[in-house]
Parts: sequence; structure tokens; C-alpha cells
Amino acid sequence: MMQAFVSPAFRRTVVGKSSSLLHRRSPTTVVRSFASIYHADMEDLSHEETSSPSSTSSPSSSCAHSLLILGKPGGGKGTISGKILSDFPQFRHVSTGDQLRQHVRNETKLGLEAKKYMDEGCLVPDNVMIKMVMKDAVEAIKNGQSLLLDGFPRTMEQAVALDEQLDVDMVINLCIPNETIIERISDRWIHPASGRVYNYSYKPPKVTGMDDETGEPLVQRDDDKPESVLKRLNKYEEATRPLVQYYEEKGVIQTFRGTQSDVIYPEVQEWLGEQLAEDDVEANTI
Ligand code: ADP
Repeated sequence: MMQAFVSPAFRRTVVGKSSSLLHRRSPTTVVRSFASIYHADMEDLSHEETSSPSSTSSPSSSCAHSLLILGKPGGGKGTISGKILSDFPQFRHVSTGDQLRQHVRNETKLGLEAKKYMDEGCLVPDNVMIKMVMKDAVEAIKNGQSLLLDGFPRTMEQAVALDEQLDVDMVINLCIPNETIIERISDRWIHPASGRVYNYSYKPPKVTGMDDETGEPLVQRDDDKPESVLKRLNKYEEATRPLVQYYEEKGVIQTFRGTQSDVIYPEVQEWLGEQLAEDDVEANTI
């Protein structure tokens, strides 16, 4: 078992002149060419008996937002997303990792295809991901719901495809050191049937190696094994890092640095609260 993390060394980097998003395009997210995403092959792959396990309906806020969360694999995107959803329930959560794992568990065509890439620590091809995510995402925004996209986009091609459908107005970039991630991932074990996730550092099962609810054995995700983790970190640098610059140029990204989600989150919460309050004021004065 790894030791608890110490010395959080937390720092928030403000992009631009102030913590407000100076260049944001519009307080109300715009949905574009919705019909264009309905392709026949999309129906094949992304709507086989699996809906997003984390997508829940929630009340609409006065204006819809689309918020992305970027960060290395194992960098706490899921944890931070969970906290955001509990404090800001107007967001509908779309997590590509959760959706893919659900497809794998259900042995759908998409799941069988995606598993080959996931087990190897590789990214699932862009065309598959874009089709899987886009309907949920655009539908949510079209219904006036705000959207929290967790794990998408991860490549420039995905970012461009998303931009063609809607305006991204806020991006959280989690910047966590590689050593922290490697420690963290090696401590992460799951209950494969339910998808319940444990971590021996901060969320251990009651009995070592066993699921709390069923008593069944826990396993390590194939893509959490050390050789896959390194591959995923390298892949992140290559494929996802350019997105930070892309969203910096749009003036919509905020970077949060640290080693512990509990320390990082209050800063995220404060920033997000400010952005939403600012936009609601703007929307009400237009
Ligand atoms: P992590 O952030 O730890 O990689 P996720 O649960 O977000 O975990 O994703 C698990 C795996 O699912 C990734 O390693 C990748 O194979 C696949 N995946 C998730 N999102 C995407 C995406 N947007 N593009 C390509 N592959 C993805």
C-alpha cells in the first residue's frame, strides 16, 4: 500500500489577465448543425443498449454552459467531476471512460472494438469517440442543460468536431505530476461487474481485495497496469497536450496544479462559481 500523499504544493495558474474568461464567446452556449451528427453508422456503434451511466437529468440553469475537464489519465478528472456535480447539479455529466467501460461490460459492438485499444493503453479512434459522445452532448445543450464533458476531447480532431457542434465556454485543466499519477493508479482497483472504484490510499475497501457490497474480488484495470500507464501518459503528452494551447488561444481555459483533489477542488469550485455567476449576470442584462 502506498503512503498517504503529503506536501500538496498547490498552485493555481491564471490564464490571461484576470481569473475571468476575457475572451469567452457567449454566455449562452450555441448548438450547431445538430442534424449533421445523425449518421447511420453512429446508430450502429453508439446506441446499442448502452446509455451513459453517469448522465442524469438535472434542472436547467438560466443559461446552458459547456464545461470540459482536461487532465492526464489518473489525474483526478473523475473525482473533480463528481465534486462539481454535487455542488453544481445543473451539469449533466458525460464521461467517455465510463461510457466505454459500460459498453465493454455489455459486450456491445462498440465495447468489443474499444476494449482492444483500452487494454493496450491506447486512445480509441476519433471517429468512434466523436459518434459516441456527440449525440448526448448536443442533446443536453439543446434541452437547455449545461454539460460537463469528462475525458472528451482528447485529440485535436475531437476538439474540432466538438467546436463544429457547440461553443465550449469553460475548460478546467488539471495539471498533476507524473509521479503522483503513477502512485495513484497503482493503488486503484475496481469491482468489474459494477464498475465500483477503490483506492488503497484514500478510499480502501473494507476488506483488502474485496468489493464492499458483494464481497467479490477486486481487479486492476488492464489499462492501470504499469506498462499501460506509461503508454497512456506518453500518449497524453502527444495527443492531448496541444488542446491546452488550443483552448488558451480561445481564452476559456483555467489551469489548476496540485497533487491532491481535495486541495485542488476548492479552487475549482470558487472559479466555476465565479464564472457561472458572471455569465448569469451578463445573460440577465442582455
Ligand atoms: P483515464 O483518464 O484514466 O485514461 P478514462 O476512464 O477517462 O481514464 O478513459 C479510459 C480509456 O478510455 C482511455 O485510456 C482510452 O483508451 C479511452 N478513452 C476515453 N476517452 C477517450 C477519448 N476522448 N478518446 C479516445 N479514447 C478515450
